[in-house]
Amino acid sequence: MVDVVISVEQARQIVLDNLVPLPSEEIPLTDSAGRILAGDIVADIDLPPFDRARMDGYALQSRDASRPGVILKVAGEVAAGTEFRETLQPGHAVRIMTGAPVPPGADAVQKFEVTEDVEGGVRIDEAVRPGQNIGPRGSEVKRGSTIIPGGTRVSAGEIAVLATFGIARVCVARRPSMALFATGTELVDVDVKPGPAQIRNSNSYALSAYARDAGIEARNLGILPDDPDRLREGIRRGIESDDLLVLSGGVSMGDYDLVKSILLELKAEILFDKVCIHPGKPTVFARRGDRIIFGLPGNPVSVAVTFLMFAYPALLALQGAAEIDLPRVRAVLAGDVTHHPDRRSYFPAKLGIQDGSASVAQLKWVGSSDLVAFRRANALLVIRENVERASKGDLAETVLLPGCAWKMDQG
Ligand code: AMP
Ligand code: MG
Repeated sequence: MVDVVISVEQARQIVLDNLVPLPSEEIPLTDSAGRILAGDIVADIDLPPFDRARMDGYALQSRDASRPGVILKVAGEVAAGTEFRETLQPGHAVRIMTGAPVPPGADAVQKFEVTEDVEGGVRIDEAVRPGQNIGPRGSEVKRGSTIIPGGTRVSAGEIAVLATFGIARVCVARRPSMALFATGTELVDVDVKPGPAQIRNSNSYALSAYARDAGIEARNLGILPDDPDRLREGIRRGIESDDLLVLSGGVSMGDYDLVKSILLELKAEILFDKVCIHPGKPTVFARRGDRIIFGLPGNPVSVAVTFLMFAYPALLALQGAAEIDLPRVRAVLAGDVTHHPDRRSYFPAKLGIQDGSASVAQLKWVGSSDLVAFRRANALLVIRENVERASKGDLAETVLLPGCAWKMDQG
C-alpha cells in the first residue's frame, strides 16, 4: 500500500506518466465532432480560391470611378458558380453577385445600393477605391499552410474548415474505452425504489456524462456490492475488457472499503492512494500493464471533483489532445471563505460576470454528499493548501465545469 499523501500536481503527473497514447484511425467528417485530430491539417487550396466578390454590385476598373457620377457600359453578368472570362475593358462594368470570381481586368466592386441603372449603362454614385469589396485569392489562407494543428479537438468551427479543405475522412486518435462500476452494498439502480438503508446509484450516470464531455462513451457495467468475490470478478472483467476502468466507492478506511486490496490481489500496481485534495482525499490510481484504473471516493461531489481533476485529463491525453484540463479563470471572490490550510479545496461555486469582470461565489453545501447543491455549480473555487482564508474582493482561481456557460444566469 502506498499510503503517502501527494499533491494534486504530483497525482496528475503520475497519471499522465502512466498513459500509453492510443493509435489513430480514419473516420467520416460527419462523425468527427468531439474527436482529437491526429495530425496537422494542411490547406490543399488557397482561400478564397479566386479573387472573389464580397458584395452584389458591379465589377469595374477603379480608375474609371475615382469620382462619383461616372456612367459605365454594362458588359455582362457573373453569378456565384459561373465565370466571366473576357478581360474587362476601360469604361465598362460587369454585374456581379457575392461569391462570384471577379472578371480579369476588374479591380473593385461597387455595391448595387450606390449605383443606378441608366440609359446606356450604370451610374456609379460613390467613388471606388482599388480592391474595394474584393476578397483576394489566398488572402485568408495560403495553399500548403497548416490551418489546424494536430491535437486539436474538433467542434463545429473545425468541421467547417475540414470540409472546406476537402477532408472527407478525418484522421483522429482512437477513443479509449472506459468501463464504469459503482461499488457499494447500499446501492440500487435508478429505476428501483430504495429500501431501508439503500440509496440510488447516481455516480455512474454523472461520470458517464463527464466522460462524454471528453469525447468518450463509457460502458456502465452497473453496481458491485462490497463483497470480495463479486468485486474481484467485476474488477477483473473491467480491467481485461477496457482501456480504462473507473470505480466509485470503497476506497476509504471503512471495514468494507475493499477496492484497494482487490486491486492488489489482481496484481495491479497502486501508484497513489491519497491526494491532498478536498473533497476526494482517498483517490486511488492503479495500473496493470497498459490498463489503468481509477478508484474514486463514493461521495457524489468527491467523485465528480476527482474524476474531473484526474480521469478527465487522462481521457484527453490518451487521445493526444493538446488541451487536456478544464479551463481555469481568475475571478473576483464575492464573499469571504474560510479554509483548512492542510489541504487543497475545490468548492462548488457559481461563476458569473459582474460589472464586466468574472466573479465567483462559493455555493452553500453541507458536504461532499450534497449533489443537489453541487448541481448548481458551474465552477470549482480553488483554495490552495496553506491558505487559511480568502477575502471578498480577492482574485481567486476557478476551474470551469463542463457546460459552465449554460449555468451563468441559471438558478
Ligand atoms: P464510500 O466511498 O464507498 O465510503 O462512499 C461514501 C458515500 O458515498 C456513502 O455515503 C455512499 O453511500 C455514497 N455513495 C457511494 N457510491 C455512490 C454512488 N454510486 N452513487 C451515490 N452515492 C454513492
Ligand atoms: Mg462504500
